[in-house]
Amino acid sequence: MTVRIVIALGGNALLARGESPDAGIQLKHVRVAAEAIAPLAASHDVLICHGNGPQVGLLALESETDPALNCPYPLDDLVAQTQGMIGYWLAQALRNAGVGKPIVAMVTQTLVDSADPAFSAPTKFVGPGYPRERARELADVHGWTIAADGGRWRRVVASPEPHRIIEQHSITALLDSGIVVIAGGGGGAPVAEDTAGALRGVEAVVDKDYVAALLGIAVGAQRLMVLTDVAGVMINYGTPQSAQLTEVDLHELANMQFPAGSMGPKTEACRRFVSATGKPATIGALDDAPALFAGTAGTTIRLRREPSRNRN
Ligand code: ADP
Ligand code: MG
Repeated sequence: MTVRIVIALGGNALLARGESPDAGIQLKHVRVAAEAIAPLAASHDVLICHGNGPQVGLLALESETDPALNCPYPLDDLVAQTQGMIGYWLAQALRNAGVGKPIVAMVTQTLVDSADPAFSAPTKFVGPGYPRERARELADVHGWTIAADGGRWRRVVASPEPHRIIEQHSITALLDSGIVVIAGGGGGAPVAEDTAGALRGVEAVVDKDYVAALLGIAVGAQRLMVLTDVAGVMINYGTPQSAQLTEVDLHELANMQFPAGSMGPKTEACRRFVSATGKPATIGALDDAPALFAGTAGTTIRLRREPSRNRN
């Protein structure tokens, strides 16, 4: 049976922490990602929503230090640039990995509210991690807000709630006609509507996990798969008592807390998808994509957990 699957593909899966952001290095990861996703894309309706945290941060830093510019490019423009580049890489790599169907990478816009409180409280990590002192220097020079991501410090930008994907009907139409779609990349270029109904780009990076959930609901997906660089959701993460959760229901999830900017948006995206659709969502490692789909790896979040299935 063909299942409609939305895949949220982590930006960190395309560039490991600490790696140099060279195109060639990212392309190698893109190939690995495409090979993991290809078997699913061959037999199901697949919509891929990729991240862009490391990539958009690099473009922002380049733009801020480009002597030819009077003013750096706004973040919405840079998100659109990353959609083009990563979408191109993924479309090519999926084809080369044997996906025989047509594949389309779209540049998409995500509607946000310009009065969203997120504009005054940045949470979204972009760019590389630095030692604390170096991050402070860069923050002074460029006017960044910075926050700790594990042991490193990174720039954080505003990440408002996505309300609607402007192109969602076109995305559905493409999926309905058997096309593999790459859309909502980097959360989509964030736009707000003015009183006359015109769209304008805003300075933000929307979380791609939330956009994947929203798109999943909009296109009638039966499954959300959040592919990242950890095997699943852990309790007591980062402590000797850490253990991976196999299955969690929405009631159990409501009593757990995860860090903003990393696992938090993934579990919240799954909660939104599962509560809106009643269908399951899975979080796990990119390399395990087919096993995650089969339910033999990762963490699956359901409306109600089957009593026979217990945590590890
Ligand atoms: P992506 O690029 O895939 O969105 P993120 O860095 O945003 O990746 O989120 C994945 C990271 O979340 C993991 O690499 C891990 O370090 C971190 N993390 C935080 N809390 C947890 C947890 N409870 N279980 C698993 N991973 C966690
Ligand atoms: Mg993330």
